[in-house]
Amino acid sequence: MKTQVLIVGGGISGLSTAWWLAQKGVAVEVWEAAQRPGGKIRSRREAGYLTEDAAALLVNFRPQVDLLVSRLGLDQDKQRRDDSLNRYIIHNNRLTRVPMLMPALLASPLWSLPAKLRLMAEPFIPKGSHTGETVSGFIRRRLGQEILDTTMDAFISGTLASDPDLAEAQSVLPRLTALEQHYGSLTMGMFINKVIRRRQTNRADTFSFSGGMEQLVQAIASSPGITIRTGIKATTIRRQDNGWRAEGTSSSGTTHIQVPQLVLSTPADISSQLLEATDERLGKLLADIKYAPVGVLHLGIKSRNIQHKLDGTGFLVAKHNRLAINGNLWMSTLFPHRAPPEQALLTCYIGGVQRPEQLQQSDDKLTGMVLDNLRPLMKIKGEPDYVKVERHYQGLPLYHGQYRARLAQISSRLDTMPGLQLNANYIDGVSVRERIYQGQRTAQTVAASLRSGNCDCYQQQMLTPSH
Ligand SMILES: Cc1cc2nc3c(=O)[nH]c(=O)nc-3n(C[C@H](O)[C@H](O)[C@H](O)COP(=O)(O)OP(=O)(O)OC[C@H]3O[C@@H](n4cnc5c(N)ncnc54)[C@H](O)[C@@H]3O)c2cc1C
Repeated sequence: MKTQVLIVGGGISGLSTAWWLAQKGVAVEVWEAAQRPGGKIRSRREAGYLTEDAAALLVNFRPQVDLLVSRLGLDQDKQRRDDSLNRYIIHNNRLTRVPMLMPALLASPLWSLPAKLRLMAEPFIPKGSHTGETVSGFIRRRLGQEILDTTMDAFISGTLASDPDLAEAQSVLPRLTALEQHYGSLTMGMFINKVIRRRQTNRADTFSFSGGMEQLVQAIASSPGITIRTGIKATTIRRQDNGWRAEGTSSSGTTHIQVPQLVLSTPADISSQLLEATDERLGKLLADIKYAPVGVLHLGIKSRNIQHKLDGTGFLVAKHNRLAINGNLWMSTLFPHRAPPEQALLTCYIGGVQRPEQLQQSDDKLTGMVLDNLRPLMKIKGEPDYVKVERHYQGLPLYHGQYRARLAQISSRLDTMPGLQLNANYIDGVSVRERIYQGQRTAQTVAASLRSGNCDCYQQQMLTPSH
């Protein structure tokens, strides 16, 4: 069957879009510049460890993700996080448990009495406007400065490599900002969703796979109906004959294709380069999207050399702690067979928008810095038996400034270019969950356009915020 859709970029954004299209019987081809599909997601087995270059787990509440995992036949390979594991934050230079239930919250040393009272007053705070509001502004307004400094800062720094003073609340906390809009209060909204509407919500499920996250991308890539062409780098795209023509290079020369529908799932700077000849303004809007560099340092350490019980998922670090790490996942506690027997695998995240210069340091220097932080926190003695460093110089897109306004401008440029879509992690969420979900939405729009022969209806839908 003639290819109907070309997807440029074989990371999870491109692969999931291809998979959803293939489910609809659409002939789809993916061009991936690297020699393997998966993009940033990559699991490596070495010296008895299973490490992740980027995404380590999937935090899911979307039925679309369950459906994809199930149809890929991966249910039996799922490794679930034990929900009873503690979550920690660094507070007063110590690992401090994050309370997950109201009684524990009231007893927690994490927040002072005024902070707890402030939290309880949240339902009485009038609803505000979110337009252009930063995470700091939003959390300070709803929950107070202390909860921002101790907790939300750590979440934004540790999971998004970002800065709450710069990140746009509606872009990075869409579910929380929606709670305020719908219920006038975050705490009331959570209560109503959890207690009153319990049956309607899809429970969050945190998991990886026995082969690591690589198993997911490889399973998608080898699904029937998807043609993956690795080692092909798209070099130019242009509109032609009511569709799009793409050219690419590979080790065996140049190639080209003409398709009715084109999806760009490349990082923003690459999409900018590919599009600037077609639409200079769109190229500029994409070029201005910034990324945080993120480093990942894996440490294999003898369990007996770590005094801490490792009874949690790991910990996050707010910027005021001035540590070298943004977060730490205890992978050997989270999932089985991540480290050899009697060894622990700790995965540390460094760099981010707070400390981009860290990625320039040598592996030895980084390891020393990270160990200096970890030793007093977790009472570690001796040296690690295994060290592995991965550097992503363009790690995560930063949803900074008036980000939704930027996306709206991108959307209006796309309105003039039927048959073209953008689906990548700089739009509507960086997580693997959101990438799979957005893949489905993109595929729906592409399929509808193919059916109607009319391609100019989808961009608005694609950029509509989801919660
Ligand atoms: C360190 C780190 C930890 C993370 N941890 C988690 C986590 O635990 N859970 C979670 O849900 N998410 C996590 N994420 C986020 C998640 O992994 C990413 O947002 C997601 O994998 C990005 O997928 P993507 O397809 O949008 O982009 P990418 O993976 O960057 O894929 C883009 C692809 O485009 C290809 N490409 C580029 N140029 C061209 C060209 N000209 N022609 C053809 N192909 C091209 C690239 O080779 C690449 O394969 C993490 C991210 C990082 C960096």
